[in-house]
Amino acid sequence: METGKGIWELIHPKLKIFSWLLVRWRLLTNVHRVYRHLTMNPKCKHCPGNLSLMIHLFRDTCHLEWLLPLLGQ
Ligand SMILES: [Zn+2]
Repeated sequence: METGKGIWELIHPKLKIFSWLLVRWRLLTNVHRVYRHLTMNPKCKHCPGNLSLMIHLFRDTCHLEWLLPLLGQ
């Protein structure tokens, strides 16, 4: 049995990167993109009344319709 391999070998590289960024609160939201001058609009693309922050993406129920299929629900 090789060392250094395990369940992480079965996970898609994009999901690994996403998970790594998520647990470190480093996902690039529109608020962060405004700070870096990559966009001028800090609002959420799906619900323009809210700022695009990580807490908004994972706490507010308006994003469950696209999040649940990613989780296999
Ligand atoms: Zn939103």
